[in-house]
Amino acid sequence: MITPELTRYIQDARYIGISDAEIVQKLEQAGWAPILMAAGLRALTETSARESVVLETHNITKTYEGNSNALQGVSLAIHKGTSVAIVGKSGSGKSTLMHILATLDRPTSGELIIDGTPTSQLSQPDIDALRNKKFGFVFQQFFLNGRDTCLDNVTLPLAIMGVSKKERIQRGMEMLKLVGMEEKAQQKAVELSGGQKQRLCIGRALITQPEVIFADEPTGNLDTENSANVMKILLDLQKSRGITLILVTHDPDLAKLCDRTITIKDGIIV
Ligand code: ADP
Ligand code: MG
Repeated sequence: MITPELTRYIQDARYIGISDAEIVQKLEQAGWAPILMAAGLRALTETSARESVVLETHNITKTYEGNSNALQGVSLAIHKGTSVAIVGKSGSGKSTLMHILATLDRPTSGELIIDGTPTSQLSQPDIDALRNKKFGFVFQQFFLNGRDTCLDNVTLPLAIMGVSKKERIQRGMEMLKLVGMEEKAQQKAVELSGGQKQRLCIGRALITQPEVIFADEPTGNLDTENSANVMKILLDLQKSRGITLILVTHDPDLAKLCDRTITIKDGIIV
């Protein structure tokens, strides 16, 4: 029989990033019968769909052409409303993992489950729609339109969605206020400092009210002071709005600000 204890054990182990192979090993050592473990792992895949897990991966690998094994079997579960830092040295596979979690790229093998739905079962247009609805992005390179105003930049996702100008202005001004940029509304983005640009990007990522924010080295181009300020705004908004934050960083001090840290080395969670 699959006991709640077994399910909970597997869930917790996956939650902290232990791979299924390791879980089986540990359970074996603890004296569980192999058949129960397999059933337990299967049952968990079903349970996690119902529970608070927003993103889950099963044994994901990624092989780029001419570059063996950027990811070599990553299994993890990320709970709704939490902040998770993905840390590791340059080239360890952080961005690859983030891109796959965010559906910007597909794994070579393994499964990504979003809100209980295995993404391998979805068509590309469905995946694109899901990404637009649920995810927001903040990158190290700001990708702002320098010649457009801050208000136009922050409301760009709404314009793409076909939201009326009146509503765009209203929501845009609210968002600029939240990131401390309301006085810059009519200024062109090119005129901003690095910290201001990144705050604008946070506003643009949040304006569609996404469930998950992916931030890849968001403070990589900022000095210490601006970096602290941007992190504070990001984490304050994440908490107050119950958003899940996935922060990719090589900086252990930034990682400490998150609820949990996933460390990746040579494409494996350690
Ligand atoms: P990180 O973000 O931790 O610095 P990446 O995920 O960008 O690491 O890269 C992991 C590994 O995959 C590295 O060896 C990198 O060179 C390789 N890699 C990343 N993107 C590509 C790509 N588009 N084509 C080929 N190799 C890539
Ligand atoms: Mg990277």
